[in-house]
Amino acid sequence: MRSPIDDYLEQVLNDYRDTDDGAVMTGNRELEKADPSSFGIALATVDGTVYTAGVADVEFSMQSIAKLPAYALALRDRGLDAVLDRVDTEPSGDAFNEISLEAETGRPRNALINAGAIAIHAMVDGGNATERVERIADLVGTLAGRELTIDEDMWDAEMASDDHNTALAYLLRSAGKLDYEPEEVVDGYAAQCAITVTCRDLAMMGAVLANGGLSTTSEDDRLLEGWITRHLLSVMATCGMYDGSGSWMTKVGIPAKSGVSGAILGVLPGQIGVAVWSPKLDDQGNSARGVAVFERLSHDMELHMMHVA
Ligand code: GLU
Repeated sequence: MRSPIDDYLEQVLNDYRDTDDGAVMTGNRELEKADPSSFGIALATVDGTVYTAGVADVEFSMQSIAKLPAYALALRDRGLDAVLDRVDTEPSGDAFNEISLEAETGRPRNALINAGAIAIHAMVDGGNATERVERIADLVGTLAGRELTIDEDMWDAEMASDDHNTALAYLLRSAGKLDYEPEEVVDGYAAQCAITVTCRDLAMMGAVLANGGLSTTSEDDRLLEGWITRHLLSVMATCGMYDGSGSWMTKVGIPAKSGVSGAILGVLPGQIGVAVWSPKLDDQGNSARGVAVFERLSHDMELHMMHVA
């Protein structure tokens, strides 16, 4: 049965359906096929209720949002100090695929730009790319509450266009931040980008983060360690929206992560996870409609973490 909240979300989507800013991601033959009119939203509360509107159950690839579960596993597998030794936690202010490492330490600036995410992917335990990706997909499935798959065509397309990421991986190895063969790591990183999810899946994953890592459906079931959850939310708050992170924090005011398939996952600690998907991206690589919808929700529902009445 639809609730007033579902109706409200439907109204918000309708208000932005005519927004036609931005462009679908180019340079990846599968992402280029995206239907620019796709538009979906899901909102999940920490008590396990999910509200939706639009195409909330249509699958798309996670892209950069998969950097979060990979980060969670690297932290769990290696511990905070070992991860910090390889990847910093500072906003970069640069584009998502910027070729830059800190001059003094050789570390990528953070785990949510590609350079950092490639180093992080290689810190997930597993004998090879397939095992690492299966563990990442399993974790997303656990948080979302259903089994997820990898889009093989998307994975192929990622690998067909991965020269830039391969260059980053070689740079990381030369800086002593990568233990494996660069090609093998980029292969696994490409596969993690191709894990498929829906807005509903992402919102449920976000609600677990909002709930401090506890399941939203069965009490006392811890899915993610509290310290890892806090770390992820902190880095999302400062670095999650590429080089648009600062303006996002002032306007929307919640930790978030976007991906170039056009999805944005936002998390308001203690309250909700929200996912919006629409493929056209703004100049920073964030879904143009997604940003507009989040600004609207933040205003209407007073979601801003620094809200002042
Ligand atoms: N597959 C994309 C890349 O690595 C993901 C980037 C993103 O979503 O930001 O270039």
